[in-house]
Amino acid sequence: TSFSDVKLTEIIKNNITLTKYDRPTPVQKYAIPFILAKRDLMASAQTGSGKTAAFLLPILNQIYEQGPAQNVPRGGGRSKQYPLALVLAPTRELATQIYEEARKFSYRSHVRPVVVYGGADVGNQMRDLNRGCHLLVATPGRLSDMIDRGKIGLDHCKFLILDEADRMLDMGFEPQIRHIVQNENMPPTGQRQTLMFSATFPKEIQRLAQDFLQNYIFLSV
Ligand code: AMP
Repeated sequence: TSFSDVKLTEIIKNNITLTKYDRPTPVQKYAIPFILAKRDLMASAQTGSGKTAAFLLPILNQIYEQGPAQNVPRGGGRSKQYPLALVLAPTRELATQIYEEARKFSYRSHVRPVVVYGGADVGNQMRDLNRGCHLLVATPGRLSDMIDRGKIGLDHCKFLILDEADRMLDMGFEPQIRHIVQNENMPPTGQRQTLMFSATFPKEIQRLAQDFLQNYIFLSV
């Protein structure tokens, strides 16, 4: 299988070529068609498997296909930001890696990714948000804060990804995750697409899956 067999739009294919990825990894090969078909997904892919591109490529593809008129344009002013896609990750390191990958795949497009995480100056992150945000990568604590401050609105969030969900729970983020996902402004299941990645499936993860996913595919690679 090569990436040319995967049904992705031109701009994505060009950016894949620029990243020099030749062929999809197994998780990419199996997950991308399901995500493009708008299915919810629970997947057990590990770091190093290419799971980041497995969710970013089809999500960005769907955003591109909606066209550039959606949401706040680039340089959207100082107002509240309404991301179309949200990726939650446990740590600053992982969030930054996801953001860097998102930047590669959104190169020369209208989509602007932003990353926010705890333990760093909130002012700089606010200023970065002020320039527009279509895809937000965030750690749960910092995002929860920004929602409470009225800086981020989830009203247009049609794509939600929980990466390393088991690690987020181990770190005690369940209350913040629920505050974000079960926020009154977040589109409910059925009106958003939700993807969860987790290396393990303890009861707590199964309960999150029950609460956050709808008719989901379970993918183990
Ligand atoms: P991840 O599991 O998402 O953290 O990705 C692990 C590493 O593999 C990252 O450095 C990616 O840039 C790289 N990678 C992801 N997909 C591919 C691919 N299809 N071909 C080559 N490298 C890839």
